[in-house]
Amino acid sequence: MPELPEVETTCRGISPHILEQTIVKVIIRAPKLRWPIPKKISKLLPGKQPISIERRAKYILLHFDIGTLIIHLGMSGRLQTLFTHTAPGKHDHVDIVFANGCCLRYTDPRRFGCMLWTEEPALEHDLLRKLGPEPFSKEFSAKYLFEIGCKRKVPIKNFIMDSKVVVGVGNIYASEALFAAKINPVTPTNEVTKDQFTILIKHIKAILRKSIKQGGTTLKDFLDNSGKPGYFSQQLQVYGRDGEPCNICGTAIESVTLGQRNTFFCPSCQPQ
Ligand SMILES: [Zn+2]
Repeated sequence: MPELPEVETTCRGISPHILEQTIVKVIIRAPKLRWPIPKKISKLLPGKQPISIERRAKYILLHFDIGTLIIHLGMSGRLQTLFTHTAPGKHDHVDIVFANGCCLRYTDPRRFGCMLWTEEPALEHDLLRKLGPEPFSKEFSAKYLFEIGCKRKVPIKNFIMDSKVVVGVGNIYASEALFAAKINPVTPTNEVTKDQFTILIKHIKAILRKSIKQGGTTLKDFLDNSGKPGYFSQQLQVYGRDGEPCNICGTAIESVTLGQRNTFFCPSCQPQ
């Protein structure tokens, strides 16, 4: 699943090719994504230019002077810029063609993504307005996490993966950040101290930043905007390493299911 770093990488990768470029054509081949793609965008967008691109959580917001295209990559989606004519494949659902010859292609085999249009302020859209702060924002602080976390008994891993608490901390990042912070993932949130939150936040930011720097990827089926696989997966300390020795202490990494998600930890480095 594309995670926040992949989405951020996508935004950075596509923006130089499409910003302030005039759209000549929008081809919708398969409107049935999670919600139907509004047909009217194929009439509305030609002649218009995206003026800015913004990421909010895992949503890509393509702002025009008349509204915003809200794009989510779902479980398996990808946005690519193509510069030579490439025949669309089975899962290439949308092409946005620009006057500079660039084609922004939306591909989504599992169709859990979305492409929606709004003429209201995009951040106030139903999908976006209840989201928690961005992980790189000042609002995402130990004080903030401690204040809302002290009333919650859910395992800390579920808490930091809750998009109402903070956005963008996916399963892999949550396991890795908790390992780096030496916090056991099943620890009830209200037992995590403010000092531990300070350390945890530092590691969440560092891991996400490192992954963005490396071009995003965490999963084998994700390719960045230039089609290259990322490298973050080679540096995972606990995720997917069930039974292998901990890189710090040699103890076998264990796994547990939390909130229906595989969770990996070192029982020695992250004691309960
Ligand atoms: Zn260990």
